[in-house]
Amino acid sequence: MRGPKVIVVGGGTMGSATAWALAARGAEVTVLERFSHVHEYGSHSGYTRIIRESYHEGAGYVPLVRRADALWQALGERAGEALLVRTGMVEFGPESDPDYRDAIAACVSAEVEHELMDAATARRRFPIAVPEGWTACFTPSGGYLRVGPCLEALKREAMSLGAGWRTGVRVREVALGERPRVLLDDGALLPADHVVVTAGAYLPGLLPGFMPGQLKVLRRVLAWTRPEPGEVDRLAAMPVWASFGPGGFVYGFPYGHEGVTGFKVACHVPPPEVGAAEAGVDPERVDRAIHPADLAPLDAFLAEYLPAGRGEFVHAAVCLYTCTPSTDFAIDHVPGDRRVWVAGGFSGHGFKFAPAIGELVAEAVVTGEAPEALRAFARARHAG
Ligand SMILES: Cc1cc2nc3c(=O)[nH]c(=O)nc-3n(C[C@H](O)[C@H](O)[C@H](O)COP(=O)(O)OP(=O)(O)OC[C@H]3O[C@@H](n4cnc5c(N)ncnc54)[C@H](O)[C@@H]3O)c2cc1C
Repeated sequence: MRGPKVIVVGGGTMGSATAWALAARGAEVTVLERFSHVHEYGSHSGYTRIIRESYHEGAGYVPLVRRADALWQALGERAGEALLVRTGMVEFGPESDPDYRDAIAACVSAEVEHELMDAATARRRFPIAVPEGWTACFTPSGGYLRVGPCLEALKREAMSLGAGWRTGVRVREVALGERPRVLLDDGALLPADHVVVTAGAYLPGLLPGFMPGQLKVLRRVLAWTRPEPGEVDRLAAMPVWASFGPGGFVYGFPYGHEGVTGFKVACHVPPPEVGAAEAGVDPERVDRAIHPADLAPLDAFLAEYLPAGRGEFVHAAVCLYTCTPSTDFAIDHVPGDRRVWVAGGFSGHGFKFAPAIGELVAEAVVTGEAPEALRAFARARHAG
């Protein structure tokens, strides 16, 4: 017997994972993606994503990271290539910083293996100028995911289970009624038993009634430097890293060749005085040019805390966050209709979770009920 017919709107990170999980549950899945599979206009550009258990956003996320970690590893084994590169993760900051304290607290309460060290020890172990009085926290489970291979592996496996994938197809509207239907730009109206909307930064435009006024799309810049040749080996041997300091939450990767040859650095959360003034952007019109003002804070950060990584910027890219007020995800059915589910609001930290989120959303679609692990991300919780 054929399973339910499900249309997934948006074949990016969460759409690929949800289609994969639905296909594994026997659903007849079609993915509709407006651009190509893996592209630069959404939230997955930039080639790599950190995976970490030191979850300052809340220890409640740790079981979900662990489930996703196992799924990424298993998917990589079946695909015959490493999707997850386990480098370990080092975070550093002053213990007066509440987010840094929360990262350490999450390690303690969720029993994440971690090693706390003083500034001098951290400076000896890593090419980071950790200031006197700060500490560093090393978690061996941290690492990074290779975006392109991850999304290709999900798509390949979903298609081998029967999923259909259409790219270059933009959904203009999701219509309810006797059967849910999606209206395409060319006027075609496609019916389904269920629709899952995983449109990333384009979600507020596509479904303005899902969380009205509560989702804010933010522009973020990723940049790569070309450090001095003498520094490359040390930088290549680094773990993934993040700093909680006066410059905000700044993070990066070991020197490498993933998409761009260079040392990748970016700012996740700017300092409060900058963040408070940050305006949301329209993904259809966002400024994708890179300006000196985008790179200056990253250069200043490297000069102070990671001078070995400093060098000419060889590449930079714009990427989009879709943020909820709490930065917790927003996963629920649309108001009043359990046939249409939405997974969005990943607030700049969703990639690592994708296969675990895909499983949970697939479960919600097939049963009509959000599994316990999704309750924290319900619309009502955000409204409260
Ligand atoms: C700079 C940056 C750094 C990040 N770093 C990390 C990190 O280190 N670790 C981590 O875990 N997470 C990280 N994230 C967050 C993570 O990448 C996102 O949370 C995740 O990619 C969101 O997935 P998504 O499916 O919602 O969006 P996307 O992957 O963008 O997918 C949405 C898809 O929907 C398509 N779409 C939209 N509208 C339509 C339509 N009308 N019709 C058809 N298709 C449509 C889009 O084209 C897109 O492909 C980062 C994000 C950014 C921007």
